[in-house]
Amino acid sequence: MSLHAIRPWRQIDRRPSRKIMVGDVPVGGDAPISVQTMTNTVTTDVAGTIAQVNACAEAGADIVRISVPDEASSAALKEIVPEVSVPIVADIHFHYRRGIEAAEAGAACLRINPGNIGSADRVKEVIAAARDHGCSIRIGVNAGSLEKHLLEKYGEPCPEAMIESGLDHIRILQDNDFHEFKISCKASDVFLAAAAYQGLAEATDAPIHLGITEAGGLTSGTIKSAIGLGNLLWMGIGDTIRVSLSADPVEEVKVGYEILKSLGLRHRGVNIISCPSCARQGFDVIKTVETLEKRLEHIKTPMSLSIIGCVVNGPGEALMTDVGFTGGGNGNGMVYLAGKQSHRMSNEQMVDHIVEQVEAKAAALEAEQAAEKTAAE
Ligand code: SF4
Repeated sequence: MSLHAIRPWRQIDRRPSRKIMVGDVPVGGDAPISVQTMTNTVTTDVAGTIAQVNACAEAGADIVRISVPDEASSAALKEIVPEVSVPIVADIHFHYRRGIEAAEAGAACLRINPGNIGSADRVKEVIAAARDHGCSIRIGVNAGSLEKHLLEKYGEPCPEAMIESGLDHIRILQDNDFHEFKISCKASDVFLAAAAYQGLAEATDAPIHLGITEAGGLTSGTIKSAIGLGNLLWMGIGDTIRVSLSADPVEEVKVGYEILKSLGLRHRGVNIISCPSCARQGFDVIKTVETLEKRLEHIKTPMSLSIIGCVVNGPGEALMTDVGFTGGGNGNGMVYLAGKQSHRMSNEQMVDHIVEQVEAKAAALEAEQAAEKTAAE
């Protein structure tokens, strides 16, 4: 068992929502909150797109979205889907034919706003294609592309306009007896996005896809997303998330997981607790943590590791982590295992030693989980 036990003050009550499937990934209901990202390759670069989807999947992405702007991209999608291990959402704007082609090409979900693809007959055709090919749909309301009549009615993008837009799109799907959908209402402004999502969460039981759109670069976008998504998730709102960064999509996945991990909503890999370091540090904390983050990227089992510069906070943090190292004097530090002081180790050898300890602990936790699963069967 991990030492980070469930406590009432750590518990988040999730908003009840319907469960839908995006390929083999459940979204909503009691399903874990899934992490999504989107490729930024040219979709017709089939090899490049496959490589990027797989890199994102390796980093933990549950679902990946790919833009399908033209017919050549629909054709590329057909080649990409069989070569990747995660469900693909096809991103469609305005062109109803692309929606049909993407469904035929094996997309697990269509990101399309049914109110923006023309006549009722065209909407029906897209919905029929989604139904025939087992695709779900994601309605994607965006403050930057609200319908003209709503902008005229409300004067500016505001939560009410976004909620109304979302509910209008929902109605179209429901009128066509299509219920396998989720919905997002993104904005780059965290206040606007949060208010719109809260309103939508009350107005529908559809699973909600969270995102702060065009959040910015790696640092600013991470902070904006952590505040916007973090607050909503803390309120229990959100069934799947995408962090939008002007950065490598793999970074979006990592940030998405860190947000969920911070709130105890998802656990994956090693959660490193480390101090900022100061003159008291017994070893180079910053360099060590950088190295350990890279060396431990392959660990997927949830567990915790504390890397603390000195005894001011080291023993206390080590009490609550699976593996710990606290800096001491004379080029040595103390290794903690399962919260208990275990043995001394030289700073020089500690990185290799900690990697070994974490790998051993991960293997033990995996064996424990496998035994529990067998016993339950
Ligand atoms: S734990 Fe020690 S080394 Fe780290 S910041 Fe605190 S006092 Fe400094």
